[in-house]
Amino acid sequence: MTAEATSDIILLPHTVWDLVPYEQKEINRGRKSSKSHDWNECICCGRALNPSAKLFWVHWSFSGNLYPVNISDEVAYAHPEGDQGWFPVGADCAKKIPAEYKSKAGE
Ligand SMILES: [Zn+2]
Repeated sequence: MTAEATSDIILLPHTVWDLVPYEQKEINRGRKSSKSHDWNECICCGRALNPSAKLFWVHWSFSGNLYPVNISDEVAYAHPEGDQGWFPVGADCAKKIPAEYKSKAGE
């Protein structure tokens, strides 16, 4: 049992940060056929990530909302929205995401 009650966790709604329509993401991806997310693309916009640019990670629920980064994987897994894992976000899109919901690569 952890000290964090899942009902106390405030997720960042996808309506705040995930603003690029699916169709536009497909265009940004270069119309790749895969519908799954790639580790080399930003989940906000679908654009390829620049390997030399600053990168952020966000913790995604199955509802598309973001967990605060200080929530452990175990707590997110036990949350009703579930735990889809950590996904990369490019520096530009990361500007839309409050600091408590994004983690810099390597931190
Ligand atoms: Zn992006």
